[in-house]
Amino acid sequence: MSVLSAGNKCTGCGVCVDVCACQAISLKEDINGFYYPSVDADRCVSCDKCDKTCHAVHSENIKRNEIGKAYAFWSLEEDIILNSASGGVFAQIAKEFLQKSDNGVVVGAYLAPDNKTYHIEIQSEQDIIKLQNSKYQHSIATGIYTTVKKRLSEGRSVLFSGTPCMVAALYHFLQSNGSALDKLYTIEILCHGIPTSELLKIGLAIEQADHICKYRTKSEGWLKGNRTVYEKAGVKYEKKNRRTDFLFRSYLTMSYLRPSCYDCQYARINRVADITAGDYWGLNRQKYLNHNGVSLMIVNSEKGRRLVNDTSNIHVAPTSWRECLPYNQNLFMATNNNFFNGWKHVAAIRKLPLSLRVFIYQNGFTNKYLQLVYHWLTRPVCFFRFLGKNRKRKQLCKSVLSQIERDGGE
Ligand SMILES: Cc1cc2nc3c(=O)[nH]c(=O)nc-3n(C[C@H](O)[C@H](O)[C@H](O)COP(=O)(O)OP(=O)(O)OC[C@H]3O[C@@H](n4cnc5c(N)ncnc54)[C@H](O)[C@@H]3O)c2cc1C
Repeated sequence: MSVLSAGNKCTGCGVCVDVCACQAISLKEDINGFYYPSVDADRCVSCDKCDKTCHAVHSENIKRNEIGKAYAFWSLEEDIILNSASGGVFAQIAKEFLQKSDNGVVVGAYLAPDNKTYHIEIQSEQDIIKLQNSKYQHSIATGIYTTVKKRLSEGRSVLFSGTPCMVAALYHFLQSNGSALDKLYTIEILCHGIPTSELLKIGLAIEQADHICKYRTKSEGWLKGNRTVYEKAGVKYEKKNRRTDFLFRSYLTMSYLRPSCYDCQYARINRVADITAGDYWGLNRQKYLNHNGVSLMIVNSEKGRRLVNDTSNIHVAPTSWRECLPYNQNLFMATNNNFFNGWKHVAAIRKLPLSLRVFIYQNGFTNKYLQLVYHWLTRPVCFFRFLGKNRKRKQLCKSVLSQIERDGGE
């Protein structure tokens, strides 16, 4: 039987499901709420194609040497920017891509009525809204890699958007299949990680809601965003008070992310996709502020430059690495994996009463408080450990900046 050797590095991209000619692999949720491939031993013929096509095992194959150029970006179209998470990089580019490319398709994450997120393809401008905005949950992408391969082989242009690991998975899948990549364009989100599906289950349970409709709104402006919209008995409502917005609070603790996210191989300055898009946190408000949202856009390749040049109705202002790097850790370093790994304890926490679970998740308890107690109990050692952690981040940021400047980046 094939042994999928990625272990904790597995990002749940689902490429192994697509490459298996025997349909022996499926993605299943584990006890901690993360998707992993599961192999049916009766069907498997041990060809090891799944392992050979795994980007997590072969991430060295997906290296871009060029260091991109950073910009502050926002769309000038109100309906686009208001429905996007930050400045609308994705939707504005996707709109003009569909208008200008002959028979092109766009692929991205869609929050479906069953409260799960799936990667789907769209072919018309009206459907862009389905892919807009951040979904803070795993996007199930099985089957989409085969679809992209098919579209490229039909001679059609494809714009693929997803997390950096999904983009890496796609490139690795297509390269392994000998597909031509000249008509493939990619946009990756600047991602700090995908949380356990448990958070959404609890969010729906405490709200007694039927659906999650949106993870982020801009009803109070972009900087005060991240309010969750639910639907109960056919009525949509927005959580106005952030203190009682469980999903917003629990996600931002960053304590219950997928294990591979704490060791993300793509949180580095040499990005994977043609364009990287994130929220422009830490922006110089005098220079760049737009209350409806500002994206930090990194253009990483010639194809990326072409996509942006072909897009109108946008405000694009060059920014420097020195301005944006210190506030956007995931551009050069994975999310910190603190001492108590929350993701390991989801199954155990599930046995507790709902109110206690809510308290634990929205306070990042397994990290924040236990760590504080631990620090307090073993103060001398841990104090230095804490200092070491911050110093490591600052030093890394500094050394990445000098590397960029040495290589002629701005
Ligand atoms: C899980 C997650 C973590 C993020 N972490 C950060 C961060 O730490 N720092 C930061 O600056 N920005 C982060 N972002 C990105 C940010 O929220 C915006 O997506 C980004 O600024 C681009 O905004 P936009 O306005 O161009 O487009 P948006 O309207 O937000 O759409 C961008 C694209 O994101 C893709 N997408 C949405 N959800 C998912 C998903 N679950 N899986 C894969 N693809 C998805 C869709 O395909 C969509 O096409 C994160 C996004 C997600 C989904």
